[in-house]
Amino acid sequence: MTYQLNEKIKGIKPYEVPKGRFTVRMDANESFLSVPQAIKKDIISMTRKVAFNRYPDTTAQKCRKAFAGYYGIDPDLVTAGNGSDELITLILNGFFERGDKLLLTEPDFSMYAFNAHIAELQTVVYQKGEDYRADPAEMIDLARREGCRGLIFSNPCNPTSQGIRKGPLRTLLRELPEVLIILDEAYMDFWNQSLINEAAEYDNLILLRTASKALGGAAIRLGFAVGCKKLTNVLQALKSPYNVSSTTQAAGEAIFKHPDLLKEGLMDILAGRGFLAGALAKLEADWKATPYAFHLIPEPKTNFVVLCFADKSKHKEIYDALKKKKILVRCFPDFLRVTVGSTEENQAFLSELTAIKNGGE
Ligand SMILES: *Cc1c(COP(=O)(O)O)cnc(C)c1O
Repeated sequence: MTYQLNEKIKGIKPYEVPKGRFTVRMDANESFLSVPQAIKKDIISMTRKVAFNRYPDTTAQKCRKAFAGYYGIDPDLVTAGNGSDELITLILNGFFERGDKLLLTEPDFSMYAFNAHIAELQTVVYQKGEDYRADPAEMIDLARREGCRGLIFSNPCNPTSQGIRKGPLRTLLRELPEVLIILDEAYMDFWNQSLINEAAEYDNLILLRTASKALGGAAIRLGFAVGCKKLTNVLQALKSPYNVSSTTQAAGEAIFKHPDLLKEGLMDILAGRGFLAGALAKLEADWKATPYAFHLIPEPKTNFVVLCFADKSKHKEIYDALKKKKILVRCFPDFLRVTVGSTEENQAFLSELTAIKNGGE
Protein backbone atom coordinates (compact mmCIF):
# COMPACT_ATOMS: atom_id res chain seq x y z
CA MET A 1 0.00 0.00 0.00
CA THR A 2 1.23 3.46 -0.79
CA TYR A 3 -0.09 6.85 0.09
CA GLN A 4 -2.65 8.10 -2.45
CA LEU A 5 -3.34 11.75 -3.16
CA ASN A 6 -7.01 12.60 -3.18
CA GLU A 7 -8.75 13.25 -6.49
CA LYS A 8 -9.01 17.00 -6.17
CA ILE A 9 -5.26 17.58 -5.72
CA LYS A 10 -3.96 14.84 -7.97
CA GLY A 11 -3.68 17.01 -11.06
CA ILE A 12 -2.99 20.43 -9.57
CA LYS A 13 0.01 22.48 -10.66
CA PRO A 14 1.72 25.44 -9.03
CA TYR A 15 0.74 28.89 -10.29
CA GLU A 16 3.05 29.46 -13.22
CA VAL A 17 5.27 32.51 -13.34
CA PRO A 18 7.53 32.96 -16.39
CA LYS A 19 11.17 32.31 -15.57
CA GLY A 20 14.05 34.42 -16.81
CA ARG A 21 15.10 38.02 -16.82
CA PHE A 22 12.98 40.61 -18.55
CA THR A 23 13.73 44.27 -19.09
CA VAL A 24 10.06 45.20 -19.41
CA ARG A 25 7.48 43.56 -17.14
CA MET A 26 3.97 44.22 -18.34
CA ASP A 27 2.54 40.85 -17.35
CA ALA A 28 1.37 40.87 -13.74
CA ASN A 29 -0.57 44.12 -13.29
CA GLU A 30 1.83 45.38 -10.67
CA SER A 31 2.48 49.09 -10.43
CA PHE A 32 5.47 50.14 -12.54
CA LEU A 33 6.32 52.59 -9.77
CA SER A 34 8.21 51.54 -6.71
CA VAL A 35 7.07 52.80 -3.33
CA PRO A 36 8.08 56.50 -3.05
CA GLN A 37 11.23 57.29 -1.04
CA ALA A 38 9.32 59.06 1.74
CA ILE A 39 7.17 55.98 2.29
CA LYS A 40 10.21 53.68 2.11
CA LYS A 41 11.86 55.70 4.86
CA ASP A 42 8.79 55.27 7.07
CA ILE A 43 8.64 51.56 6.32
CA ILE A 44 12.26 51.17 7.38
CA SER A 45 11.90 53.16 10.57
CA MET A 46 8.71 51.30 11.52
CA THR A 47 10.26 47.95 10.68
CA ARG A 48 13.08 48.75 13.08
CA LYS A 49 10.55 48.95 15.89
CA VAL A 50 9.03 45.54 15.17
CA ALA A 51 9.34 43.08 18.06
CA PHE A 52 10.74 40.26 15.96
CA ASN A 53 10.53 37.70 18.78
CA ARG A 54 6.78 38.30 19.23
CA TYR A 55 3.84 37.17 17.16
CA PRO A 56 2.08 39.86 15.16
CA ASP A 57 -1.04 41.70 16.31
CA THR A 58 -3.80 39.24 15.42
CA THR A 59 -6.18 41.97 14.29
CA ALA A 60 -3.56 44.13 12.50
CA GLN A 61 -5.21 47.05 14.22
CA LYS A 62 -2.94 49.95 13.20
CA CYS A 63 -2.64 48.72 9.65
CA ARG A 64 -6.42 48.31 9.32
CA LYS A 65 -6.92 51.76 10.80
CA ALA A 66 -4.55 53.34 8.27
CA PHE A 67 -6.29 51.49 5.40
CA ALA A 68 -9.73 52.53 6.69
CA GLY A 69 -8.55 56.12 7.10
CA TYR A 70 -7.36 56.25 3.50
CA TYR A 71 -10.74 55.08 2.18
CA GLY A 72 -12.86 56.84 4.79
CA ILE A 73 -14.48 53.74 6.25
CA ASP A 74 -14.92 52.14 9.70
CA PRO A 75 -11.80 50.09 10.66
CA ASP A 76 -13.99 47.68 12.64
CA LEU A 77 -15.49 46.43 9.39
CA VAL A 78 -12.10 45.54 7.91
CA THR A 79 -10.15 42.26 8.05
CA ALA A 80 -6.51 42.19 6.93
CA GLY A 81 -5.14 39.27 4.96
CA ASN A 82 -1.86 37.93 3.65
CA GLY A 83 -2.74 39.34 0.25
CA SER A 84 -6.34 39.26 -0.91
CA ASP A 85 -5.49 35.81 -2.28
CA GLU A 86 -5.52 34.50 1.27
CA LEU A 87 -8.91 36.08 1.90
CA ILE A 88 -10.36 34.50 -1.26
CA THR A 89 -9.18 31.06 -0.10
CA LEU A 90 -10.53 31.70 3.38
CA ILE A 91 -13.95 32.86 2.20
CA LEU A 92 -14.52 30.08 -0.31
CA ASN A 93 -13.47 27.45 2.22
CA GLY A 94 -15.28 28.92 5.20
CA PHE A 95 -18.56 30.40 4.00
CA PHE A 96 -19.60 27.49 1.80
CA GLU A 97 -20.17 23.78 2.17
CA ARG A 98 -19.08 21.03 -0.14
CA GLY A 99 -21.26 20.96 -3.24
CA ASP A 100 -22.64 24.47 -2.81
CA LYS A 101 -23.04 26.26 -6.10
CA LEU A 102 -20.79 29.23 -6.72
CA LEU A 103 -21.40 31.54 -9.65
CA LEU A 104 -18.28 32.63 -11.52
CA THR A 105 -18.00 34.82 -14.56
CA GLU A 106 -15.83 34.07 -17.54
CA PRO A 107 -13.29 35.43 -18.22
CA ASP A 108 -12.30 36.40 -14.69
CA PHE A 109 -9.46 35.94 -12.15
CA SER A 110 -8.31 32.31 -12.31
CA MET A 111 -7.86 31.90 -8.55
CA TYR A 112 -11.64 31.87 -8.00
CA ALA A 113 -12.11 28.64 -9.93
CA PHE A 114 -8.99 27.11 -8.39
CA ASN A 115 -10.11 27.82 -4.83
CA ALA A 116 -13.66 26.72 -5.58
CA HIS A 117 -12.23 23.41 -6.74
CA ILE A 118 -10.19 22.94 -3.55
CA ALA A 119 -13.23 23.91 -1.44
CA GLU A 120 -15.19 21.23 -3.37
CA LEU A 121 -17.81 23.67 -4.63
CA GLN A 122 -19.81 23.29 -7.79
CA THR A 123 -19.27 26.15 -10.17
CA VAL A 124 -21.81 27.76 -12.45
CA VAL A 125 -20.26 29.93 -15.13
CA TYR A 126 -21.70 33.12 -16.57
CA GLN A 127 -20.17 33.87 -19.98
CA LYS A 128 -19.64 37.56 -20.63
CA GLY A 129 -20.95 39.11 -23.82
CA GLU A 130 -19.55 41.42 -26.45
CA ASP A 131 -16.34 43.19 -25.43
CA TYR A 132 -16.51 41.05 -22.29
CA ARG A 133 -19.30 43.08 -20.79
CA ALA A 134 -21.24 41.45 -17.96
CA ASP A 135 -25.00 41.95 -17.72
CA PRO A 136 -26.00 41.96 -14.04
CA ALA A 137 -29.62 41.12 -14.91
CA GLU A 138 -28.45 37.92 -16.61
CA MET A 139 -26.21 37.13 -13.64
CA ILE A 140 -29.20 37.50 -11.29
CA ASP A 141 -31.31 35.19 -13.47
CA LEU A 142 -28.59 32.56 -13.65
CA ALA A 143 -27.89 32.66 -9.90
CA ARG A 144 -31.61 32.20 -9.18
CA ARG A 145 -32.16 29.51 -11.77
CA GLU A 146 -29.19 27.49 -10.51
CA GLY A 147 -29.79 28.15 -6.82
CA CYS A 148 -26.31 29.57 -6.30
CA ARG A 149 -25.16 30.21 -2.73
CA GLY A 150 -22.34 32.51 -3.73
CA LEU A 151 -21.07 34.79 -6.46
CA ILE A 152 -17.48 35.97 -6.84
CA PHE A 153 -16.13 38.33 -9.47
CA SER A 154 -13.61 41.11 -9.93
CA ASN A 155 -14.83 44.64 -10.59
CA PRO A 156 -13.29 46.15 -12.60
CA CYS A 157 -12.37 42.81 -14.02
CA ASN A 158 -8.99 41.15 -14.41
CA PRO A 159 -8.38 40.15 -17.19
CA THR A 160 -10.97 42.07 -19.26
CA SER A 161 -10.44 45.66 -17.99
CA GLN A 162 -14.23 46.18 -17.96
CA GLY A 163 -16.53 46.88 -15.03
CA ILE A 164 -20.05 47.04 -13.70
CA ARG A 165 -21.27 50.38 -12.40
CA LYS A 166 -22.55 51.00 -8.88
CA GLY A 167 -26.25 51.21 -9.74
CA PRO A 168 -26.57 47.75 -11.31
CA LEU A 169 -24.34 46.33 -8.56
CA ARG A 170 -26.68 47.61 -5.87
CA THR A 171 -29.55 45.94 -7.71
CA LEU A 172 -27.56 42.71 -7.87
CA LEU A 173 -26.94 42.81 -4.12
CA ARG A 174 -30.61 43.46 -3.33
CA GLU A 175 -32.01 40.97 -5.80
CA LEU A 176 -29.89 38.12 -4.45
CA PRO A 177 -30.35 38.52 -0.68
CA GLU A 178 -29.57 34.87 0.04
CA VAL A 179 -26.40 34.80 -2.02
CA LEU A 180 -23.02 35.76 -0.55
CA ILE A 181 -21.50 38.19 -3.02
CA ILE A 182 -17.73 38.50 -3.01
CA LEU A 183 -16.82 41.67 -4.86
CA ASP A 184 -13.11 41.82 -5.64
CA GLU A 185 -12.14 45.47 -6.10
CA ALA A 186 -8.41 44.79 -6.62
CA TYR A 187 -8.38 47.40 -9.43
CA MET A 188 -11.00 49.84 -8.15
CA ASP A 189 -8.39 52.50 -7.36
CA PHE A 190 -8.28 52.96 -11.15
CA TRP A 191 -12.04 53.52 -11.45
CA ASN A 192 -14.64 55.46 -9.50
CA GLN A 193 -17.39 52.89 -9.01
CA SER A 194 -16.43 51.47 -5.63
CA LEU A 195 -19.00 50.24 -3.12
CA ILE A 196 -16.46 50.40 -0.28
CA ASN A 197 -18.29 53.23 1.48
CA GLU A 198 -21.57 51.35 1.55
CA ALA A 199 -20.33 47.76 1.94
CA ALA A 200 -21.60 47.53 5.51
CA GLU A 201 -25.18 48.26 4.42
CA TYR A 202 -25.43 44.81 2.89
CA ASP A 203 -25.39 41.63 4.94
CA ASN A 204 -24.52 39.54 1.86
CA LEU A 205 -21.43 41.41 0.66
CA ILE A 206 -17.72 40.92 1.23
CA LEU A 207 -15.63 43.45 -0.65
CA LEU A 208 -11.92 42.82 -1.27
CA ARG A 209 -9.10 45.30 -1.77
CA THR A 210 -5.35 44.90 -2.11
CA ALA A 211 -2.12 46.84 -1.65
CA SER A 212 -0.64 44.98 -4.63
CA LYS A 213 -1.86 46.95 -7.62
CA ALA A 214 -2.46 50.73 -7.54
CA LEU A 215 -0.57 51.17 -4.27
CA GLY A 216 2.60 49.52 -5.49
CA GLY A 217 2.88 47.11 -2.55
CA ALA A 218 2.77 43.69 -4.20
CA ALA A 219 5.92 42.62 -2.34
CA ILE A 220 4.46 42.94 1.14
CA ARG A 221 1.39 40.71 0.52
CA LEU A 222 -1.43 42.71 2.05
CA GLY A 223 -5.13 42.55 1.25
CA PHE A 224 -8.34 43.56 2.99
CA ALA A 225 -11.91 42.38 3.28
CA VAL A 226 -14.67 44.89 4.06
CA GLY A 227 -18.11 43.79 5.17
CA CYS A 228 -20.87 44.22 7.74
CA LYS A 229 -20.21 43.40 11.39
CA LYS A 230 -21.66 39.90 11.20
CA LEU A 231 -19.50 38.85 8.24
CA THR A 232 -16.42 40.61 9.62
CA ASN A 233 -16.75 38.74 12.91
CA VAL A 234 -16.79 35.44 11.03
CA LEU A 235 -13.78 36.41 8.91
CA GLN A 236 -11.80 37.42 11.99
CA ALA A 237 -12.54 34.05 13.52
CA LEU A 238 -11.89 32.05 10.35
CA LYS A 239 -8.47 33.47 9.56
CA SER A 240 -5.37 31.99 11.10
CA PRO A 241 -4.50 34.10 14.14
CA TYR A 242 -1.21 35.56 12.91
CA ASN A 243 -1.92 35.74 9.21
CA VAL A 244 -0.32 39.11 8.50
CA SER A 245 3.32 39.47 9.52
CA SER A 246 4.41 42.35 11.75
CA THR A 247 6.69 43.69 9.01
CA THR A 248 3.79 43.71 6.55
CA GLN A 249 1.52 45.40 9.08
CA ALA A 250 4.17 48.08 9.64
CA ALA A 251 4.71 48.58 5.91
CA GLY A 252 0.96 48.76 5.30
CA GLU A 253 0.54 51.34 8.02
CA ALA A 254 3.34 53.44 6.52
CA ILE A 255 1.90 53.22 3.00
CA PHE A 256 -1.61 54.35 3.89
CA LYS A 257 -0.32 57.29 5.91
CA HIS A 258 0.78 59.01 2.69
CA PRO A 259 -2.46 59.58 0.79
CA ASP A 260 -0.98 62.40 -1.31
CA LEU A 261 1.92 60.28 -2.55
CA LEU A 262 -0.41 57.38 -3.28
CA LYS A 263 -2.65 59.63 -5.33
CA GLU A 264 0.32 61.05 -7.23
CA GLY A 265 1.41 57.53 -8.18
CA LEU A 266 -2.11 56.71 -9.22
CA MET A 267 -2.24 59.74 -11.51
CA ASP A 268 1.04 58.63 -13.14
CA ILE A 269 -0.42 55.18 -13.85
CA LEU A 270 -3.63 56.66 -15.23
CA ALA A 271 -1.62 58.99 -17.49
CA GLY A 272 0.37 55.97 -18.72
CA ARG A 273 -2.86 54.13 -19.43
CA GLY A 274 -4.13 57.09 -21.43
CA PHE A 275 -0.95 57.13 -23.51
CA LEU A 276 -0.89 53.36 -24.09
CA ALA A 277 -4.60 53.09 -24.92
CA GLY A 278 -4.42 56.13 -27.19
CA ALA A 279 -1.44 54.77 -29.12
CA LEU A 280 -3.07 51.35 -29.45
CA ALA A 281 -6.36 52.83 -30.66
CA LYS A 282 -4.38 54.44 -33.47
CA LEU A 283 -2.67 51.14 -34.36
CA GLU A 284 -6.06 49.42 -34.30
CA ALA A 285 -7.26 51.82 -37.02
CA ASP A 286 -4.01 51.59 -39.02
CA TRP A 287 -3.76 47.78 -38.98
CA LYS A 288 -7.38 47.00 -39.85
CA ALA A 289 -6.63 45.56 -43.28
CA THR A 290 -3.53 43.58 -42.21
CA PRO A 291 -3.09 40.06 -40.79
CA TYR A 292 -2.42 41.86 -37.48
CA ALA A 293 -5.89 43.38 -37.24
CA PHE A 294 -6.87 43.67 -33.60
CA HIS A 295 -9.49 45.18 -31.34
CA LEU A 296 -8.62 47.13 -28.23
CA ILE A 297 -11.27 46.59 -25.57
CA PRO A 298 -12.37 50.22 -25.18
CA GLU A 299 -12.29 52.37 -22.06
CA PRO A 300 -10.14 50.24 -19.76
CA LYS A 301 -10.95 50.74 -16.09
CA THR A 302 -7.77 49.05 -14.84
CA ASN A 303 -3.98 49.46 -15.05
CA PHE A 304 -3.88 47.19 -18.08
CA VAL A 305 -5.32 47.04 -21.57
CA VAL A 306 -6.66 44.11 -23.58
CA LEU A 307 -5.92 43.40 -27.24
CA CYS A 308 -7.98 40.85 -29.20
CA PHE A 309 -6.37 39.88 -32.48
CA ALA A 310 -8.76 38.72 -35.18
CA ASP A 311 -6.38 35.85 -35.93
CA LYS A 312 -6.11 34.18 -32.52
CA SER A 313 -2.82 32.50 -33.39
CA LYS A 314 -1.28 35.98 -33.26
CA HIS A 315 -1.60 36.09 -29.47
CA LYS A 316 0.99 33.41 -28.89
CA GLU A 317 3.12 34.56 -31.81
CA ILE A 318 3.33 38.12 -30.49
CA TYR A 319 3.76 36.97 -26.90
CA ASP A 320 6.72 34.78 -27.89
CA ALA A 321 8.29 37.44 -30.09
CA LEU A 322 8.02 40.06 -27.34
CA LYS A 323 9.47 37.60 -24.85
CA LYS A 324 12.51 37.12 -27.07
CA LYS A 325 13.01 40.88 -26.82
CA LYS A 326 12.76 40.59 -23.01
CA ILE A 327 9.33 42.21 -22.92
CA LEU A 328 6.79 40.24 -20.95
CA VAL A 329 3.02 40.57 -21.37
CA ARG A 330 0.30 38.09 -20.48
CA CYS A 331 -1.04 35.74 -23.14
CA PHE A 332 -4.59 34.35 -23.00
CA PRO A 333 -6.08 32.21 -25.77
CA ASP A 334 -8.42 35.01 -26.85
CA PHE A 335 -6.36 38.12 -26.11
CA LEU A 336 -3.17 39.72 -24.84
CA ARG A 337 -3.26 41.58 -21.56
CA VAL A 338 -0.73 44.38 -21.27
CA THR A 339 -0.05 46.12 -17.97
CA VAL A 340 0.61 49.85 -18.11
CA GLY A 341 4.33 50.52 -17.74
CA SER A 342 6.49 53.60 -17.47
CA THR A 343 6.67 55.89 -20.50
CA GLU A 344 9.84 54.10 -21.69
CA GLU A 345 8.30 50.67 -21.14
CA ASN A 346 5.10 51.59 -22.97
CA GLN A 347 7.15 52.93 -25.86
CA ALA A 348 9.38 49.86 -25.94
CA PHE A 349 6.29 47.65 -26.10
CA LEU A 350 4.67 49.71 -28.86
CA SER A 351 7.78 49.81 -31.02
CA GLU A 352 8.42 46.05 -30.64
CA LEU A 353 4.79 45.30 -31.41
CA THR A 354 5.08 47.38 -34.57
CA ALA A 355 8.36 45.67 -35.50
CA ILE A 356 6.75 42.24 -35.05
CA LYS A 357 3.86 43.24 -37.29
CA ASN A 358 6.17 44.68 -39.97
CA GLY A 359 8.38 41.58 -39.84
CA GLY A 360 5.45 39.17 -39.96
CA GLU A 361 3.60 40.66 -42.91
C1 LIG B 1 -3.90 40.70 -8.37
C2 LIG B 1 -5.26 40.29 -7.98
C3 LIG B 1 -5.55 39.85 -6.69
C4 LIG B 1 -4.45 39.46 -5.76
O1 LIG B 1 -4.18 40.36 -4.84
P1 LIG B 1 -3.14 40.05 -3.68
O2 LIG B 1 -3.63 40.99 -2.64
O3 LIG B 1 -1.81 40.40 -4.23
O4 LIG B 1 -3.24 38.63 -3.27
C5 LIG B 1 -6.86 39.60 -6.34
N1 LIG B 1 -7.84 39.73 -7.24
C6 LIG B 1 -7.59 40.11 -8.50
C7 LIG B 1 -8.72 40.21 -9.46
C8 LIG B 1 -6.30 40.38 -8.92
O5 LIG B 1 -6.05 40.69 -10.19
